[in-house]
Amino acid sequence: MCSSVPVDDCLVDVSGMDLTEDEFFGGDQIGAYLTLVEKIEELTPDIRGLRLRLVDPPNMKFVAGQFVNVELPDSDEVRSFSLANPPSRSDVIDLIIKMLPGGRFAQLLNGQLSVGDKLRVYGPLGQMKVRLSHRPIVMIAGGSGLAPFLSMLTELAEQNSERPVTLFFGARRAEDLYALDRIAELQRRMPALRFIPALSEERPADWHGETGLVTDVVARCMPDLSGHDAYLAGPPPMIDAAVPLLVKLGVRERNIHFDAFVPSGGA
Ligand SMILES: Cc1cc2nc3c(=O)[nH]c(=O)nc-3n(C[C@H](O)[C@H](O)[C@H](O)COP(=O)(O)OP(=O)(O)OC[C@H]3O[C@@H](n4cnc5c(N)ncnc54)[C@H](O)[C@@H]3O)c2cc1C
Repeated sequence: MCSSVPVDDCLVDVSGMDLTEDEFFGGDQIGAYLTLVEKIEELTPDIRGLRLRLVDPPNMKFVAGQFVNVELPDSDEVRSFSLANPPSRSDVIDLIIKMLPGGRFAQLLNGQLSVGDKLRVYGPLGQMKVRLSHRPIVMIAGGSGLAPFLSMLTELAEQNSERPVTLFFGARRAEDLYALDRIAELQRRMPALRFIPALSEERPADWHGETGLVTDVVARCMPDLSGHDAYLAGPPPMIDAAVPLLVKLGVRERNIHFDAFVPSGGA
């Protein structure tokens, strides 16, 4: 739905979406923003951090967990990326971007885009956000899927939240893990935050953490997830595997929220 465009007038029944009126009309707040590239960082061999400085308007109000659409220069195409900064940093847009082979935005980050360049951004979009409840939270991130959770967790830390959160972070090799310092800092501020990184392809001699597919690691570490809220972000195959697993482990389907990082470009 989030990537679809109506080709004609249509009637959409949203009564089953379980949204408050505020959440529903939140969609009306989407704006167009002019930004300047402030920083491009190599986080892993195939993941880049991109910081955009908001220029006009100079701030964007958003909810932790949402995403933006970034326009490809000289085109009317956009690419969706989740915000990794908390809403308290409304003057910037921090994105964490997987360098898909042949990806048009990825190519821009490979030397074509420079500090000071202009990018147009549309947003905020999406319904992913920490739902109010007393339930403990499990978050499952694959690759660049850590982005929305960095935003959500930073906001929880700013709120001095005591809600237990377990963050699973799936990567192939140790060199694919990133933001570890930021997560360690979040753990200092939020003692109820447990962090479980998992490597699926390689087990270095000095690795004492979990190994295997992140979904298998979730099942091994937390075999009973009844009474939890679950949030997922990352590649569609990970989401497809994780949702039925979470239901099997006891999470109610209505308490599972996810953003599948569906690619926009053609195959
Ligand atoms: C709500 C939402 C939030 C998102 N947030 C993020 C985010 O925070 N970070 C992020 O990195 N992505 C995110 N995505 C995904 C991102 O929008 C797409 O991957 C986008 O297509 C990337 O743009 P691009 O121009 O680099 O690649 P495109 O020009 O769109 O090309 C993608 C190409 O890569 C191919 N491809 C797809 N997967 C693979 C693969 N595993 N290996 C090889 N080729 C592949 C596709 O078939 C296509 O040809 C999000 C998507 C959605 C819907």
